[in-house]
Amino acid sequence: MIDIKSEIEIKLISESGCVVKLIMEELKRAAKPGVTTADLARKADEIIKKSNARSAFKGYRGFPGVICTSLNEQVVHGIPGDVRLSNGDILSIDVGIEKNGYYADSAITVAVGDRVAEKALALIEVTEKALYLGIEKARESSRLFDISNAIQTLAESHGYGVVRGFVGHGIGKSLHEEPEIPNFGKQGAGPRLKNGMVFAIEPMINEGDYEVEILSDGWTAVTRDRKLSAHFEHTIAITGDGPKILT
Ligand code: MG
Ligand code: MG
Repeated sequence: MIDIKSEIEIKLISESGCVVKLIMEELKRAAKPGVTTADLARKADEIIKKSNARSAFKGYRGFPGVICTSLNEQVVHGIPGDVRLSNGDILSIDVGIEKNGYYADSAITVAVGDRVAEKALALIEVTEKALYLGIEKARESSRLFDISNAIQTLAESHGYGVVRGFVGHGIGKSLHEEPEIPNFGKQGAGPRLKNGMVFAIEPMINEGDYEVEILSDGWTAVTRDRKLSAHFEHTIAITGDGPKILT
């Protein structure tokens, strides 16, 4: 069952989304060469505390970080630590919070410094564009996998691999609700979308093959071929006026 949220619930999710957005803006500015991923997590933690919110990730199935920071070939679920950002890195930052019982979740991939390779910048650009094409399909007239198909079609047209092992999700009263939202799928298939559904749509796109593996820390997902990966995510609501981005 895909939960339908009331207008009041969507407003509460968007209040959580505002906190996520604030953190993202701060971390985008802060992600400079020489900064550690733990520094970024500390900045996120400060804003979370000031906002009377709570990290949705810390403690989730034992995840140790306040946010996820995934560098270069890391796809998702990287743990903030002592690693220093270098000029030329790409860094995916994933932030999820809960406030007043409602969750919001968002991710971006940023270029660190001014020496990021063209091919890395292109991967970032296409992944972000894929997110917005997917969001555009989040309407009452669509089926769930129309979102998936829009993302897959764009990514594969550039020769990229669409990660299979991790997917988007419903969100609201929990971090992960039904349905699962794969970034690959058939147009015209899947459940009919309805106003009031709230989704976290999150393409994870690899420069090479879509296969991933998990490092020995039990969390960090990396591309099997160790080529780059990018990740963008927004929490959105399907409304009578179309898709509304809440993060
Ligand atoms: Mg996320
Ligand atoms: Mg998510």
